[in-house]
Amino acid sequence: MTQGSLSKIKKQEGYLISFYPWKESSYILKFLLKDFGVLDFILFRGKRKHIPISIGFKYDIVFYKKENLSIIKEIVLNESITINTKKDFYLVHIIFKLISKLHISEEYSNFFWTLIEEIFSLLKNSKIDKDLIFIKFLISVLKIEGLWKEYTKCFKCHKKFSKGDDVFFDLQNVRIYCSECIDTYNNKQNKIFPIKFWIISFSNWLIYNNIDLIPDSKKENILKNKNEIMNFLIEYYKIHLLYKDEEIFKIIDKYLQVSS
Ligand SMILES: [Zn+2]
Repeated sequence: MTQGSLSKIKKQEGYLISFYPWKESSYILKFLLKDFGVLDFILFRGKRKHIPISIGFKYDIVFYKKENLSIIKEIVLNESITINTKKDFYLVHIIFKLISKLHISEEYSNFFWTLIEEIFSLLKNSKIDKDLIFIKFLISVLKIEGLWKEYTKCFKCHKKFSKGDDVFFDLQNVRIYCSECIDTYNNKQNKIFPIKFWIISFSNWLIYNNIDLIPDSKKENILKNKNEIMNFLIEYYKIHLLYKDEEIFKIIDKYLQVSS
């Protein structure tokens, strides 16, 4: 082996996002890596290595980085995930299905890595409401995809909103209007979602803060409204990210039907 090829060998932790068998004994795998974003790999003779291969598991991998399909030299299981409930199962499934649909470049790999690490540590904590974890994930992905801004005022009259205000979210154009301006905003083709402004500002807070930090005084109100928050975000996804993906909506429906 020459010096040049040695320098291309990398060592990283990675979460397995998806995999499928290739030829008789190999695998094609997709990993989220700490520093490289999402990359596709081939693991030659992978089936003979007797390593548990499962979506959501964390591995240490040594690989040879290539343009389209990187080659795994060594792979060791670092951490498996324990799934306690059906709800957790669907949640993990949705998270990795969604990640497989995004283009995660090196620039955002650290953000996603930290997000996934946080979500898995939260999943282990049985006291935390699973729907809050789901909401945090959905809103963070919107932020990274450039579909979520810091909303403070009406798009038309620039009136600054207070937490108790009723606002109208134009999901198509990603803008919010006050109740007066929405009357004159007569584009019937757009999907308008009426919502309380505090939900928008809470969602924004959730992107940057840990769920553990939600003050108890606010927690009750948030949990009472979690279905509305989830419905709002799922409508958002239907328009912008998953509009043709029937399969993932079936999984989301299953998730919503199962109680924690
Ligand atoms: Zn207005």
